[in-house]
Amino acid sequence: MTQTGAVIDVAGEVVLRGRLVLPDRIVPHGEIIIDGERIAEINVSPTRPHVTDRWTDGWIFPGLIDLHVHGIGGRDFMDATDDAFQAIDRSLASVGCTAYLGTTMSAPPQALQAVFEAARTAAPSGLLGIHMEGPFIHPEHRGAQSLEVIRPASVDEIEGYVKQAGRLLRRITLAPEGPGALELVNWCHQHAILVSAGHSHATFDEALAAFDAGVGEVTHLFNAMPPLHHRNPGLVGAALARSDVKVEMIVDGIHLHPAIIQLVARLKGPQGVLLVTDAIRATLLQDGQYDLGGQTVTVIDGVARTSQGNLAGSTLTLNRAVFQFADFAQVDLFDAVRAASLTPAQVLGLYDQGAIRPGYLADLVLVDTLGRVRATWRRGHLIFDAR
Ligand SMILES: [Zn+2]
Repeated sequence: MTQTGAVIDVAGEVVLRGRLVLPDRIVPHGEIIIDGERIAEINVSPTRPHVTDRWTDGWIFPGLIDLHVHGIGGRDFMDATDDAFQAIDRSLASVGCTAYLGTTMSAPPQALQAVFEAARTAAPSGLLGIHMEGPFIHPEHRGAQSLEVIRPASVDEIEGYVKQAGRLLRRITLAPEGPGALELVNWCHQHAILVSAGHSHATFDEALAAFDAGVGEVTHLFNAMPPLHHRNPGLVGAALARSDVKVEMIVDGIHLHPAIIQLVARLKGPQGVLLVTDAIRATLLQDGQYDLGGQTVTVIDGVARTSQGNLAGSTLTLNRAVFQFADFAQVDLFDAVRAASLTPAQVLGLYDQGAIRPGYLADLVLVDTLGRVRATWRRGHLIFDAR
């Protein structure tokens, strides 16, 4: 039995029934009424007669939101084509992700300009903007980023992208201890661009200075930075100590030990965690060799590595991340879902999406008892149907 929840279309009104995952609880037999693009009403004990008998045990999630995704289904945002952007949008819908920041790799300015141009012209409806991961990072902690194009932070360079693409630049991951970085952090803070610390060698004091200057998040905590040391807490220690800082985690069971995931969830609280995938084009495809930002990465058993053996993004999907986070961290499913929906929406300053609430956008995902996505709606439109 793979049927999950019921979809009833009565006189133009769309009604979804199932286990509703609200931000703070699960309603076992609930009903969502969609009116146009938005959620009109939530009934926790529906009384209207069943129009169909397709009521089952599956969940209804809010649409998942990924702040850090490079690609999926053979495509990468760095391909910088209309076709790639549209294909990624469709593939993400198939795994329950209805909104996302297209994430770039460290690259020459011309390559990044091409991505902004493609984002501007393709503008798939799930694209909330671009997350630039690099090129202003620490060479020693570059992970799968290309060494040759890493450069000092530059307000001029970023200003150029903003002139070109306006509000499409939403987030930058940088090493806050690097040359020019704090100046850029201040500039971004004034221009409502999020800055996340990552691929960094920052000391504890440098990290605190960055948080004070407006850096609000840490990119894939523990990965691409020195480990936590008890006399030298560094970026990891600072991120864990500061309750106002949110941390990305890649919960694929490879990037972080499950015990670390549990510890971080306990320290930060589920609302301090951002579940991201850092997914690359190999996601949803077979093992093999793939391009990532101009480098060849090899995927074995779903784990992507560079020729030097560094982890190179993941092949994780957000629906899997949610269930694995609940499992590894021993948190409630609604808290895990929140870390991949409401929390990222709030980080982006979007206050009408990321939760099943009246008045919010009708971005919804039907998930079966095995955690598989069966159907996805964006703004009330069915955009994926596994049948
Ligand atoms: Zn990444």
